[in-house]
Amino acid sequence: MNEYNIVIIGAGPAGSFLAYKLGCQGISVLLLEKENFPRYKICAGGLAKKSYDIVFSENKDIKKIVEKKVRKGLYVRNKKLTFTDAKKDLIYMIYRSELDNFLVKMAVDKSVHFKDNITIKNINRNDNKIIYTDKNTEHKVNYDILVGAWGSNKKLNRFVDLIPFESYAVSSTWEGPAGPKYSKYSNEYAVCQIIKGYRGIAGYIFPKSEMITAGLFTSLNSTTNLKKMWKELMDFWKLDKNIKPRYALIPIRDFKKPIARNNILLVGDAAGLADPFTGEGIYYALKSSIIASNEIQKYLKNKEYDLSYEYNKNINLSFNEIQKWGKFYEFLFQHLTNLSFWFGSECFIGNEIINSFVTGEIKYNEILKIIKFSIDRIFNTDIKIE
Ligand SMILES: Cc1cc2nc3c(=O)[nH]c(=O)nc-3n(C[C@H](O)[C@H](O)[C@H](O)COP(=O)(O)OP(=O)(O)OC[C@H]3O[C@@H](n4cnc5c(N)ncnc54)[C@H](O)[C@@H]3O)c2cc1C
Repeated sequence: MNEYNIVIIGAGPAGSFLAYKLGCQGISVLLLEKENFPRYKICAGGLAKKSYDIVFSENKDIKKIVEKKVRKGLYVRNKKLTFTDAKKDLIYMIYRSELDNFLVKMAVDKSVHFKDNITIKNINRNDNKIIYTDKNTEHKVNYDILVGAWGSNKKLNRFVDLIPFESYAVSSTWEGPAGPKYSKYSNEYAVCQIIKGYRGIAGYIFPKSEMITAGLFTSLNSTTNLKKMWKELMDFWKLDKNIKPRYALIPIRDFKKPIARNNILLVGDAAGLADPFTGEGIYYALKSSIIASNEIQKYLKNKEYDLSYEYNKNINLSFNEIQKWGKFYEFLFQHLTNLSFWFGSECFIGNEIINSFVTGEIKYNEILKIIKFSIDRIFNTDIKIE
């Protein structure tokens, strides 16, 4: 039987970045993934500047997989278009298959053992043992620490009896050509849009060099409304209706519930750490991996260290307040969709605040900083309304 200090299940950004961080310290890591890499992952492919910076600080080659850097926003409120220019990089457009493959390669370069196309058969928490099959051959692996980085695969959360979710946001994407209308803007502008009659649903378009990704995001669990809004969004932008949107759930954390017990930790979506306001999750996947890596290293140096307690505590300290405010903004968007969208796009200060959230200059809960930042920037932006 093989033995590893750490076994990580799931090679999305959370799992592979954690594997990389631990690999850098010479810790023995096995990274297990059910799909064949590079694999398709349903995602809009927007890497916020704050997430890009984390990866860039480790590996400058990340710039080679960036399709586009977006500084400008085209906001559509019902039928009114508002063009904004942040004059700084906001979002880096990438394909998730490429980003995730890039991160896995970084881990493998640090001697992480990576096995894709495997099936987890059992997790035996009493014996610290995992059984998985690889090309029909059964393998048994012993671990000191198991990390769940399996994204929104709730079945594995049940396996380890850690289900820290309060709710699920619904996100849906469509990938295809820009179409005649958006082509005029696709070089520079990302779109954010609401349509009258669809409370609490935000539409968006993220441009890549060849294709675009359009999407809808809502924390309200209503696929019927999403389907209707898709039709209107596609009509508005004259997108190809033969290409069908795909749907996926994003788990949202309940901070009263633990994301670690004994020698098992959850990171990224498996821990419900995505942003409840925007659905952005890559940043939280990377950040939770950094925290997990630090805590695991402390534990491996001193086996008396209370790993699960400290990990839970540090994650809560880092994200609890931010996610609370994220839920509050989401609540406002659900109940005052038109007004809050107007504030974030057409109102100068609101737009500055939203941009600073995306870049990471300001966190949701830094209210004083929000006020100061807005006042400082108030004389320095260019908003054109059509
Ligand atoms: C439609 C949509 C659009 C989104 N757009 C954005 C965006 O533009 N920007 C952004 O920041 N976030 C976005 N998100 C959120 C983002 O995709 C997630 O938050 C992020 O992928 C979380 O990373 P992760 O590593 O925790 O999980 P994942 O990226 O989901 O990775 C989990 C991995 O675990 C593997 N796995 C699952 N089960 C098993 C198993 N049994 N055995 C082995 N492996 C397993 C999966 O195959 C996968 O590779 C979007 C989400 C959706 C649904």
